[in-house]
Amino acid sequence: SLLQQWSAEHDASNSAGTAIELRRLSFSYPGGRRALREINALIPVGCRLGIVGPSGAGKSTFLMHLNGLLPATSLDSSDACGVWIHGEPVLRTSLKQIRQRVGFVFQDPDDQLFAATVADDVAFGPRQHGCDSEETERRVRSSLAAVGLEQTLAYNPSQLSYGERKRVCLAGVLACQPEVLVLDEPSSNLDPRARRQLMAILAALPATLVIATHELDLVLALCDRVLLVDE
Ligand code: ADP
Repeated sequence: SLLQQWSAEHDASNSAGTAIELRRLSFSYPGGRRALREINALIPVGCRLGIVGPSGAGKSTFLMHLNGLLPATSLDSSDACGVWIHGEPVLRTSLKQIRQRVGFVFQDPDDQLFAATVADDVAFGPRQHGCDSEETERRVRSSLAAVGLEQTLAYNPSQLSYGERKRVCLAGVLACQPEVLVLDEPSSNLDPRARRQLMAILAALPATLVIATHELDLVLALCDRVLLVDE
């Protein structure tokens, strides 16, 4: 299966080391107040990191730096600051490579899904990363199977429930086999059953996970470290 193959590749290539390095990461929105102030952290490969803190603390802003959705890294001066993924700085010039390594699941699936069918949506990432059509199809099928939605290939995403659309988003990211998986409020608006399904899927993934959430029981069940963001 996709997960077995992916796990084996992870074991072979990443048995040790730092997945994410944050060096004095700061960010202010234009005209706004400072959202992140001098965050330093080393997040090891395979870590399941929970990001917690009150609304407005900067969790989403933090996540968006991990794959360059917001500008991340400055190498200008002798004291470089920002984000490094597996030793590579997140730079405007390296976004393509960084986004192959860092998959991002948005809080709202409707911000992420755009294609006319589930199959096309999940295929987008592998195609972008240069997979041929056979490999793309294999990944689409296996990642939809991993989230329990292999029957929905031909559906329009609007025909699925909110929780199912959220799982399609996750499948689309899994199909890229990222080393780091970033999730913003993955369980928000899910009913208890959909939430249990999602947690079981996340618990089985081999990637380094970064999960921002308000749900502390999810952190307790899934995460081995926590970063508390406040002010
Ligand atoms: P959280 O995810 O923890 O709720 P955010 O990262 O969304 O927090 O927001 C952190 C701070 O940045 C808040 O004060 C918020 O109002 C501000 N902020 C968020 N997005 C923007 C934006 N696009 N423009 C200006 N300020 C923003």
